[in-house]
Formats: sequence, C-alpha cells, structure tokens
Amino acid sequence: MFNRLDHVGIVVSDIDATLKTYCEQLGFKLLERTEIAEQKVVAAFLDGGNSTIELISPTDTESGTAKYLANRGEGTHHVAYEVDDIIAALAELKAQGVRLIDETPRQGVHGLVAFVHPKATHGMMIELLQKGHHKGQ
Ligand code: ZN
Repeated sequence: MFNRLDHVGIVVSDIDATLKTYCEQLGFKLLERTEIAEQKVVAAFLDGGNSTIELISPTDTESGTAKYLANRGEGTHHVAYEVDDIIAALAELKAQGVRLIDETPRQGVHGLVAFVHPKATHGMMIELLQKGHHKGQ
C-alpha cells in the first residue's frame, strides 16, 4: 500500500526559530514555506537527504494543531507515506477496520491527503499522500 516515506511532520511553536535551528545549526535546506489558511497553520518543508521534514506551526490558538501543541508540546506529529491511489488505500484500511481521521481525502500542499488515527497505529499518526493534485496558488 505504501510506496515510500515522503516526510516526517513535526509540530513547533515558533517556525522562524525552528527554521534557524534546522537550517543554520543542523544543515537542512529550506525547500518551501507556505501558509495553509484553512488549517490555520504555517508549514515549511526541509530537505533531509533521502526524505523531507515538514515543520508545522499554528497561526491561531483554536485550531486542532494549536490544541495539539498546547496539550502535547513540540515534537513528532505524523509520518507521511506516498500512495498511488488514496481512495483505494483508504478503502483497504477501512476494510481492515483501521480507525481513520479522514474517510475521504482532502487537499494538502502537495496533493491529496488523509490521516489514520494514532490510536489505530500504536501512537503514530500516519498521513497518506497521493502526490500530483496540486493546490492552486
Ligand atoms: Zn505532512
């Protein structure tokens, strides 16, 4: 079902301070920084060698990401795997009785995305990503 690891998502409180750490101290390269208005977050994608890191920071105090940060603090938020057909992958997971956050995909920054509930995966939220459906900007 999963083709490859696309990125690891990390929730942070201060995106500028985090970018400074990752790019200046740790040697990552900034690929893209984008604000996702409907989710009230700013996201930055960093080149991590054979994979990518996504930094996510809330831009308000009420969004799901803001609540996650307030409750759990900074740290690993999800791992994203690329799939060929997100509808088929979701149907397969559902047939296996896997608890999903999104039963239907939504538009992400780099394609269609859907999340598997961390309670179904022993604590790790999994993002399914079908690349190629780009968000119009
Ligand atoms: Zn992600």
